[in-house]
Amino acid sequence: MWVTGVDPAVADEVRQTLKAPGYGHPAVVELARGTGPCRQCLGTFRVGQEERVLFTYRPREEGGTVTAPGPIFVHRDRCQAPDPARFPDDLRALPLLLEARGDGGVVLTTSHSGGSRVEGDIARLFEDAQVRYLFVRNSEAGCWMARVDRAAPGA
Ligand SMILES: [Zn+2]
Repeated sequence: MWVTGVDPAVADEVRQTLKAPGYGHPAVVELARGTGPCRQCLGTFRVGQEERVLFTYRPREEGGTVTAPGPIFVHRDRCQAPDPARFPDDLRALPLLLEARGDGGVVLTTSHSGGSRVEGDIARLFEDAQVRYLFVRNSEAGCWMARVDRAAPGA
């Protein structure tokens, strides 16, 4: 299992330019009014204490499929991506939708998940050899949070 959020280079570009990558419209800086999460460190925000940047993001695509863009947050200050070999604990508390994608990014199936069930649900989806990778979404807000691959790139 290999869990990744937004490309750190993209997050840094947004912090610097305060423009949405590929779209160019303004990103919004605000004091966190909700828990997020931050799509780079995949941790939740401390409400009223941490600044965050809101911008439109389109997850990287496979095979030319169109992936819908959506709003995401990152910390205003630089932060670090977590260990990709572990599922981030802060995401477990959220209502999760695991979206299993096959060749060309086609959505094959989805599964609601959360808490201590996440690793088992991910393993079960990857039992299907047609599944190439998963997107993790907030099942209530619908927004993209992370991508899960079977293993590290090149492994
Ligand atoms: Zn962060």
